Amino acid sequence: MSIGLPTLNSKPLTLVFKIPINGFSKFFEELKNGKIVTTKCRRCGKLYFPPVPECGNCLSSEMDWVEIDGEGGVEAFTHVVVRPESFKQHPPYTLVIGKLKNGVKVFARLSGVSIADVKVGMKIRLKAKVVEGNEVVYEFTPV
Ligand SMILES: [Zn+2]
Repeated sequence: MSIGLPTLNSKPLTLVFKIPINGFSKFFEELKNGKIVTTKCRRCGKLYFPPVPECGNCLSSEMDWVEIDGEGGVEAFTHVVVRPESFKQHPPYTLVIGKLKNGVKVFARLSGVSIADVKVGMKIRLKAKVVEGNEVVYEFTPV
């Protein structure tokens, strides 16, 4: 005798994760305008991405919003074939660590290029993109 799970009478369970965006709403507002902004420490000048409320370098909480030029190059990449459950409906995708001209490193999806053509050092640009559900994300595309 086995104890089986009731697979015939099942329903999908959708999880929604809510993250606090207090102090970061400007980041998402500007993404909707096609701009990528982040925070820069007013005291020591360290630039962060994604934005942070306080500087980990000098512990100041005086941060300025600055627009960043998304141009950079691929530092490292991986291709995700075995996707997490929440991405199962999407085709396999490529993730990169891109180093922007200002030195900031950004971890994001790379689209618009086949994995066979992705190379370390290739020029990429970080862009804001509106996806289904009117959500705004950022991703890299080849230059
Ligand atoms: Zn600082």
